[in-house]
Amino acid sequence: MDPEQFRKRGRQMIDYIADYLENIENRRPLSNVEPGYLKLLIPDDAPKKPEDWNTVFQDIERVIMPGVTHWHSPQFHAYYPTANSYPSILADMLSDAIGCIGFSWVSSPACTELEGVMMDWLAKMLQLPEEFLSTGEGGGVIQGTASEATFVTLLAARSKALSKHINSSKSITKFVVYASDQAHSSVERACLLAAVEFRSVPSNENEEMTGEALEEMIQKDIDNGLIPFYVVATLGTTPSCAFDRLLEVGPVCKKHDIWLHIDAAYAGSSFICPEFRPLLDGVEFADSFNFNPHKWLLVTFDCSTLWLKNNKYLVETFNVDPLYLKHKEQGNVPDYRHWQIPLGRRFRSLKIWFVLRLLGSEFLQSYIRRHVQLAKEFEALVRSNDKFEVTHPVILGLVCFRLKGDNEMNRKLHDAINNDGRIFLVPSSSKSVYFLRFAVCAYKTCLNDVKFAWKTILQISESL
Ligand code: PLP
Repeated sequence: MDPEQFRKRGRQMIDYIADYLENIENRRPLSNVEPGYLKLLIPDDAPKKPEDWNTVFQDIERVIMPGVTHWHSPQFHAYYPTANSYPSILADMLSDAIGCIGFSWVSSPACTELEGVMMDWLAKMLQLPEEFLSTGEGGGVIQGTASEATFVTLLAARSKALSKHINSSKSITKFVVYASDQAHSSVERACLLAAVEFRSVPSNENEEMTGEALEEMIQKDIDNGLIPFYVVATLGTTPSCAFDRLLEVGPVCKKHDIWLHIDAAYAGSSFICPEFRPLLDGVEFADSFNFNPHKWLLVTFDCSTLWLKNNKYLVETFNVDPLYLKHKEQGNVPDYRHWQIPLGRRFRSLKIWFVLRLLGSEFLQSYIRRHVQLAKEFEALVRSNDKFEVTHPVILGLVCFRLKGDNEMNRKLHDAINNDGRIFLVPSSSKSVYFLRFAVCAYKTCLNDVKFAWKTILQISESL
């Protein structure tokens, strides 16, 4: 493809993307293809000669789109949102074109420097304590996902604990991690990868981890000669958007000198609104904090932002320094390769920069507020019907609800909703209660979509 063809095809692709996103509500949100559908539509071997652009372009609709689940459809209410916006897509195009691998400052200074500044901008928008800013011993770094943020901070905490317990024989076999039974599965997985013990702390009736429950488990382990070293507090749990009691959990971690990591993957974006910022009270106790702008801050996947109060444990944990990666500014500037597992890293801060500059923080606040308001509207519709109940407090953009009655009935309702295909929801369960989750996800979702979803659910429930 020569530059002139690229300009022409690029315009065509931009038009296709804009048409796709502007008319997305006309597509079934949940793909209903059968496994193996795609192999039947394309040849078994890669082409030897170049194919014509128009044939490839037409195959987007023929081959790809039938198997796409449309996460940006206003009828998509599953999981949690994944963000999308034109400024972010444009920034990613530029990042692809620059195509640098920013593993060290010298490998592309703008990549490192913009990331540092963007992490400080975001930290200030969230009113994180000053220790998380790059001006002191702390600072922020972009990871791919919240799971990676948990894993790398767990490794950093493990290395800190190892240096403290250097004389304790086989200390690593005694190391224990804690998170609520509502925490994301990535915490348990990080423990498997790091070969440390995981404890699931029973949550209270509101699905919160309390200081008391955590203290009880920690004390028992200490009495048995074990070494508690890392706690994850979740703000906005995956099943029901519950918030661990940070103001109780924090002092327990301080008392026992345990690394406290906060996973606010979804809810973190809402902390840019002053009315939701109290949900983050207690962050001052944390050693590390993470949320996903790629969930709810209009920055496209992947962009998971992680801050540390003291970056030395992370940087020292991953420090392998071959000659070919050394440069003369080393030590004076961050080399983000030490802050993550892979060596290579994309220019992801560009999309934060574009989104923050082209939309502004006031617009982002109003966007979050609009989603929360839509969740409240859906909650009111559920509450207005005697056959249904809301199962958990609606704090942000997630409503958990169910038909009053047994779990089986609700399982049938969920299956029928997804078979129907007009909207897409996922279920969850907690303390043996099965319920449905209605998440406000898409940028475009409006009150009519919420009413449409409720009408669809009612219709289907009546036909059961
Ligand atoms: N933590 C929480 C609270 C989540 O809700 C999720 C996903 O929804 C994750 C972690 C995992 O996110 P990621 O895909 O960024 O690893």
